[in-house]
Formats: sequence, C-alpha cells, structure tokens
Amino acid sequence: MAEHYDVIIIGSGAGGGTLAHALASSGKRILLLERGDFLPREMDNWGAKPVFVQGKYISKDAWFDRDGQEFQPQVHYFVGGATKLYGAALYRLRPGDFGEIKHVDGISPAWPLSYDDFEPWYSAAEQLYQVHGNAGEDPTEGPRSQPYPWPAVSHEPRLQQISDDLAKGGYHPFHAPCGIMLNEADRPRSTCIRCAWCDGYPCLVHAKADADIIAVRPLLGRPNVTLLTGAEVTRLETDGPGRTVTGVVVSRDGAREVYAGDIVVISAGAANSAKILLNSASDAHPHGLANGSDQVGRNYMFHNCKAIAALAKEKNDTVYQKTLGINDFYFATKDYEYPAGNIQMVGKSNAEAMRGEQPQLTWFAPEWGLTDTAEHSVDWWLTTEDLPAPENRVTTDKDGNVHLAYSPTNAEEADRLYGELKKILNHTGMAAHHVFRKNFYMDMAIPLAGCAHQAGTCRFGTDPATSVLDVDCKAHELDNLYVVDTSFFPSIGAVNPALTAMANALRVGEHIRQRLAP
Ligand SMILES: Cc1cc2nc3c(=O)[nH]c(=O)nc-3n(C[C@H](O)[C@H](O)[C@H](O)COP(=O)(O)OP(=O)(O)OC[C@H]3O[C@@H](n4cnc5c(N)ncnc54)[C@H](O)[C@@H]3O)c2cc1C
Ligand code: SF4
Repeated sequence: MAEHYDVIIIGSGAGGGTLAHALASSGKRILLLERGDFLPREMDNWGAKPVFVQGKYISKDAWFDRDGQEFQPQVHYFVGGATKLYGAALYRLRPGDFGEIKHVDGISPAWPLSYDDFEPWYSAAEQLYQVHGNAGEDPTEGPRSQPYPWPAVSHEPRLQQISDDLAKGGYHPFHAPCGIMLNEADRPRSTCIRCAWCDGYPCLVHAKADADIIAVRPLLGRPNVTLLTGAEVTRLETDGPGRTVTGVVVSRDGAREVYAGDIVVISAGAANSAKILLNSASDAHPHGLANGSDQVGRNYMFHNCKAIAALAKEKNDTVYQKTLGINDFYFATKDYEYPAGNIQMVGKSNAEAMRGEQPQLTWFAPEWGLTDTAEHSVDWWLTTEDLPAPENRVTTDKDGNVHLAYSPTNAEEADRLYGELKKILNHTGMAAHHVFRKNFYMDMAIPLAGCAHQAGTCRFGTDPATSVLDVDCKAHELDNLYVVDTSFFPSIGAVNPALTAMANALRVGEHIRQRLAP
C-alpha cells in the first residue's frame, strides 16, 4: 500500500519549493519529491569554466526539436530548481501584462485574474525572497501594498554614470529588483559579498534568495515535511473515472515507488510538468492527464531574449552589474505601436564565460582579445514577450522523451528593442569610446536549449476548453491535482518570471490550506 500524505508536491523550485514553505506551518503531512539532489557547495560554483563552458550543473537530459534533432536543454535538477542558477532579478509583471496586449505577431491574452488580485501575493513573495528595490522609479510598475523589504542594491560607479546619462536623456532608468541577501549598511555582516558570480552561477555562500535556501531548507527537520531527493516522478495514476490522482509513481535509485496524497501538486518546470501529464495517459485520459482540451504542452513560451555586450574604450570594472533596468519601451510608445520589452543588465562578462556562450568568438578573437573584450564590455539583457502559440508545444514520444517544437514570435519587436538599446548607448556617449571607431555590439540570440524562462504548457483560465487549470491552478478535469510552476502562465510578459511563480505558489498555498482546513 502506498505511503499516504496530505499533500505531495513534485519539484522544489520557484513554484514547488515556495508552495511547500507556504503549507508547512499548516501541520499537514507534506511530501516534497525532487528528482535532483542538493547542489554541491564547491569552488566550481564560482568558476566560469565549469559553469558556462562545461555546463557542470546542467542536466544530461536529451530533448528533441521539431525536426527530431537531439539537444541538451539548459535545465537544472537540484533542490531549488532553476533558482539555484538564476540571476535573482525578481520582477512583478506590470498591471498591463494581465490584460490583453496587441503585438506585431498577434495577441497576448488576458489573464483570468488582475494585477490587483496578484498584488498581495507579490508583496508576500518579495518579503519572503528578501527583494531589494526602489519603488516609484519605473513608470510601468503597478501599485504596491508594501514597500520592498530591502533598499535597492546600489549602482557601482560605471552603472551610476550610465543611469545618470539615461535620466538626462529623458529615459527612466530604475534600480532593478534583486533577490540577494546583501546588507549594504553593514557589509561585514552581510551574507552576500556582492561578487561577480551571481547571474547563472550557484551562490557558494548561500546568499542568493533561491527556493532552496529561502523556502525548502528552513523546513528540513520539521516532523510534518519530508523531502525526498533523487525522486523522479514518472507518472500519475488515477481512480477509474479519472477524477482523482491516487498514485504518484517515482523512480528512485532505480526502484519504482508509489506515494499517495489527498492533494497532488506538480511543479516540475513548464516542460517537465507537461511531460509528466502527457506520460500519464490512461483509459480515462487517453491523451494525457488533464488533457481533454488538448492544451497540455501547448503555448510554450520562453521569451525572445538577447544578451548584448556593448564595448567601450574605457574599462567597465563593475563587479555586480545587475542593478539597472529600463522599461521605457515595455509598452507601445508614440513612436511604435507595439511593446518592445524590457532592458536590464546581465552578469558581467568574463573571458571564460564568453568562450562558453559564443564559441564563434574564440575563432576570431585569441585569448587576450576575449579578456580585453570582457573587461571593456557593458552587458545587457533584452527581453521581448513571445506569444503563447498553440503550435509551440511540448509533446512526448513512445519512450516518454520531451519533444519541443518552437518558432519565435515578435522578432520585429525584439529587433526594435535592440535598435532602442543602440540609440541608448549612443545617447549615453558610449559610441565615442568604442574600441572600434564605429559602434560594435555583439549579440547572442538565445537558442532553443536556453529554456531558462520556460512557461506556459498548462495555462490557467475559466474555460476548460481553452485552459488546463482553473483560477486556483487546479486541473479542470481532476479534483485533487494542481500545477504551480510557470506552466500556469497564459502569457509571459517581458520581465523575468520567477517572482510571479513564487507569488502564485503563495496564492495557491492559501487556497489549499483553506481546502484542507478541518
Ligand atoms: C541561468 C538562469 C537564470 C535565470 N535568471 C532569472 C532571473 O534573474 N529572474 C527570474 O525571475 N527568473 C530567472 N530564471 C528563471 C527562473 O529560475 C524560473 O522561471 C523559475 O525557477 C521557474 O520555476 P518553476 O517552479 O517553474 O521551475 P523550477 O524552478 O525549475 O523547478 C522545477 C523543479 O522540478 C524538479 N523536477 C523536474 N522534473 C521532475 C520530476 N519528474 N520529478 C521530480 N522533480 C522534478 C526540478 O529538478 C526542479 O527542482 C533563470 C533561470 C536560469 C536557468
Ligand atoms: S552576489 Fe551575493 S548572492 Fe550573488 S553569488 Fe555573489 S555572494 Fe552570492
């Protein structure tokens, strides 16, 4: 007989880890199933070569593209999920993102809930994840019921200069919201040491507000919470009519184990959650669990992103670069009728990381050239919203492997944003200092494997014909199955997704608490 819990949560990342945290104090028996282990704490955490070149912390999974070509997805199977490696830029979606938005390639659909519905949960998530920020600088941000729990992370001199230049030019640069445990008022006692190894690296000193450190670890030792690592969920079983999940099938140390819970929550990441549901087909759910609408796996999004290194003659000796954002092009402007997206900083380039990200660079730039390039670069991250296209989808084959079909959308908007960045750089006087007399920008389009911001695949909504989940993130077709990772996003906006997943997990957590209350 399967061991029985009140709640089983599959995946311990931004969604699942946060949900476990939200439910732990209820006293209910919670089982957290995580296919990875704790990320090892070692010097390699802060090594560009192991992290970016050798991909030490990337899963060995093989996924397949639309043409059946195998690729290695940049997914991370650890307690804390992708947040172990994330840049901890913890943005709220803008109020407008919750409504319908017209894009060059189509419509970004409205959410079934509004920004106001999410606002208290955003505030709670910011408190939990210790977000540093400065409200009121970004004209696109929504109202807030609580201030940021921590002051914004300060700009280093080069970034302050860029920010000042932008403000003088009529732009609205703002301090980017960051989830790092930095106490600038008391640096000797600050957990975060403000280093250059944040964005894309695990934090060696456990100062990043990730789902492992913030949400899961504090629960260890609680009598009502059990964490099983190395526990890969392969399938969910249901009762005959298919309304109730009765068994969570786990592969662990090569053995098959089955667990049962009154409530089962999937939070394995957008692609893997779809994989579990699709691989759980049965007589009652012949096309996959909760998939009567044929929506499971569809509407996969992962942002239309570019990383840009802008070179200047003067050195950029910034250490922690991720402090500035610009949303002047986030929505339509008087010059362009479509939204272009968000501009923010990305972790500071270094020669080794550049070698990993862009092997072509090493063909025409010898080692000294890369080092020089990295020292002089100011590094930007451009995000344009991609649309939830039904044909952009996760499917699985007869062996249960993930196939990911994806064609980009809104490329014109992404180009527009790149153009705006170039104008900004010229405007801030950087053109005059470029190493190569003319502007020289190296852009790296993020390929399919860079699925860091994956979302969609099980969107929530009010209509069971067009959505997988209801507004509480419960599957329309089942009574005890929920999904709380980024799968639930009906659209993705153009800011980083993690805070929205965390806020939603707190929201759904409150719903489940009430449901389980005596
Ligand atoms: C390098 C990088 C940088 C990023 N930077 C940012 C940023 O600055 N800001 C931001 O907002 N977002 C950022 N993101 C994205 C952010 O981390 C994700 O949006 C967020 O973690 C998604 O949460 P999730 O719960 O959907 O999935 P995850 O956090 O990935 O959690 C999924 C969990 O499920 C586990 N799992 C998967 N399959 C199974 C299975 N079958 N059985 C059991 N467990 C399973 C995984 O191991 C994982 O722990 C970044 C991501 C990466 C990779
Ligand atoms: S900047 Fe702070 S949180 Fe980020 S990796 Fe360095 S010490 Fe860790």
